[in-house]
Amino acid sequence: MSDHHQIVIVGGGTAGITVASRLRNADPSLDIAIVEPSDKHYYQPLWTLVGGGMFEPEESGRDEASLIPYGVAWIKDYVETFSPNANRITTRNGDDITYDYLVVAPGIQVNWDQVKGLKESVGKDGVCSNYSIDTVGSTWEFIRNLKAGVALFTQPAGAVKCGGAPQKICYLAEDHFRRSGVRDKIDVIFTLAGPRLFAVDRYRETLEKVAQRKGVEPRFRHNLVEIRSGSKEAVYSQMDTGEEIVIKYDMIHVTPPMSAPDFVSRSELAGEGGWVDVDKHTLQHTRFANVFALGDASSLPTSKTGAAIRKQAPVLVSNLRSLMQQQPLAASYDGYTSCPVVTGYDSLVLAEFDYSGQPAETFPFDQAKERFSMFLLKKFGLPALYWHGMLQGRV
Ligand SMILES: Cc1cc2nc3c(=O)[nH]c(=O)nc-3n(C[C@H](O)[C@H](O)[C@H](O)COP(=O)(O)OP(=O)(O)OC[C@H]3O[C@@H](n4cnc5c(N)ncnc54)[C@H](O)[C@@H]3O)c2cc1C
Repeated sequence: MSDHHQIVIVGGGTAGITVASRLRNADPSLDIAIVEPSDKHYYQPLWTLVGGGMFEPEESGRDEASLIPYGVAWIKDYVETFSPNANRITTRNGDDITYDYLVVAPGIQVNWDQVKGLKESVGKDGVCSNYSIDTVGSTWEFIRNLKAGVALFTQPAGAVKCGGAPQKICYLAEDHFRRSGVRDKIDVIFTLAGPRLFAVDRYRETLEKVAQRKGVEPRFRHNLVEIRSGSKEAVYSQMDTGEEIVIKYDMIHVTPPMSAPDFVSRSELAGEGGWVDVDKHTLQHTRFANVFALGDASSLPTSKTGAAIRKQAPVLVSNLRSLMQQQPLAASYDGYTSCPVVTGYDSLVLAEFDYSGQPAETFPFDQAKERFSMFLLKKFGLPALYWHGMLQGRV
């Protein structure tokens, strides 16, 4: 089968839905199709709070059908191949879809099989992860049931969704252990492949104090390579020396390695690292002028978050419409991203910054401080803003 649409969007997640809504709001006559295989869309930022026992996993999801904007066609399939010279994509079912303009937004790929033994053990025997709807429930189960021993939290090398998220669940667990009277019987260790807790100094300084106050021991340059679930051992490679380090755990929360999706990295759209190669300000592809990308699958050199997409989407839509009208691409993305780093059940540091690492803060107070008000924003304000504002193309 073959099909043609004026604009085809690959991926109906945070970025794909937001762009479709904004395009429809700007011009209801546009012929738009979204290629998206899933029946459900999840607000993934809530998974931190699901892992911390504040919400049930199902509360993070909505039916995809209810989110596809009115008048936009939904092609329920996986894209397998890009043929940008022919303005064509091919799906897993073997269908060809041609387009005038293409928006690429299939998110990041979670590579469970890159840590030996992880796929087999996650969700069982104290091994948990917030990085899938199928395993996020096990995080709370293992945090709640731990009464003594070692609680390990990991962050891999390379890009992950929301760079602060691996730390957030560690701080929530520590707070839970303290509130339930078992903190002094548990060692809380946060291992990370990188050399520091956070990329931007202003927030890093606060987070170092948080970790110190909580007695969370950071171990830098530790990259998880294997889980031996039988003996409850986490095996690391020391990033500088290659030395093998083994840590015994009673529970372990794993942030798996992530990468550009394979079908993107093997395509002609890929640039360095396999990401869709776009101009960091206009979001237009560097070689194919009628192709744009945003979100986690794009090469945009900023922290991969939904908050970043909220600022990328209006730029992309404006520039795509300018291109359609043969106007210059005037809108520019400055790299804005935001990471609400939860530091406990009543505190949060709302990091917001741009490409230069300069703070780009929303509120007229010092956001590098932990605040209860910002925790409430994360728990109640941002989910509402997401479902009712951002995905509708309103904010
Ligand atoms: C635990 C956790 C905590 C987080 N915390 C925060 C936070 O506090 N703040 C924040 O802003 N962000 C946070 N994020 C990150 C945020 O969720 C992502 O950055 C955002 O969802 C990325 O949007 P996207 O559209 O690029 O990808 P996604 O929303 O993941 O959507 C990608 C879509 O593409 C589809 N797709 C995949 N392959 C194909 C294919 N071959 N063909 C067609 N479609 C395909 C997928 O089914 C999916 O629907 C968090 C993420 C996690 C996991």
